[in-house]
Amino acid sequence: MFGLIDWWRRRSARGRAFDPAWRAILEAHVPFYPALTGPVRERFETALKVFLLTKHWIAAGGMVIDDEVKVVISAAAARLVMNRPRDHYQRLTEIVVYPSHYVHPGGDGIIFGEAQSWGTVVLSYDATTHGMKNPGDGHDTALHEFAHVLDAADGKFDGTPVLDHLTSYAPWTRVMSAEFLRLRKKVARRGVLRRYGATNEAEFFAVASEAFFEKPRQLRDRHPDLYAVLRDYYASDPASDV
Ligand SMILES: [Zn+2]
Repeated sequence: MFGLIDWWRRRSARGRAFDPAWRAILEAHVPFYPALTGPVRERFETALKVFLLTKHWIAAGGMVIDDEVKVVISAAAARLVMNRPRDHYQRLTEIVVYPSHYVHPGGDGIIFGEAQSWGTVVLSYDATTHGMKNPGDGHDTALHEFAHVLDAADGKFDGTPVLDHLTSYAPWTRVMSAEFLRLRKKVARRGVLRRYGATNEAEFFAVASEAFFEKPRQLRDRHPDLYAVLRDYYASDPASDV
């Protein structure tokens, strides 16, 4: 039943026109948007529209959620799945947005974003826009959290999302494990991948996804195997596009 309602909501969202005002927001706030052209732009806009119209948006901490907030956050989500039309963040139902970083009651750390397995992504809007304004630093909070959601599509935050072919799992596991161990061993040297990716396999996938979209050429040159498995998964080749 859930699946049917979900299908119907997505179908009706797909039939809605893309609001021209959203394009102005994209031009102003989403640096990778102008480079998307032709059928790629069409797929991106469709993915963005369906995401924006089918997820529940919840304001927290005094946040006001307007079209700009929805479009910018949806852009990060759509970037990951625009070439994977069957991936629409099925388990994700709501996006909670704080104006800035926040803390958990009783928690000891400040948080900029998190993905929870029961279908919620929480984001600081400050961190989201900061991540987008610096497109080449390999750090993008919203993209990172949406990569976690893709990872957990099979119910587990383990660094392996649902792959299209059974034969893709063996090379995926081989490359991801080798690259994860390589990052863990590397001490205090600046690389393409953020050190945070050494935390565990789930963080490694999210951090590698940030580098894939933000530093595609460096990733391809210095981690060609990692680049190749992510290129196959995302069905995108950003190193050739830029
Ligand atoms: Zn993470």
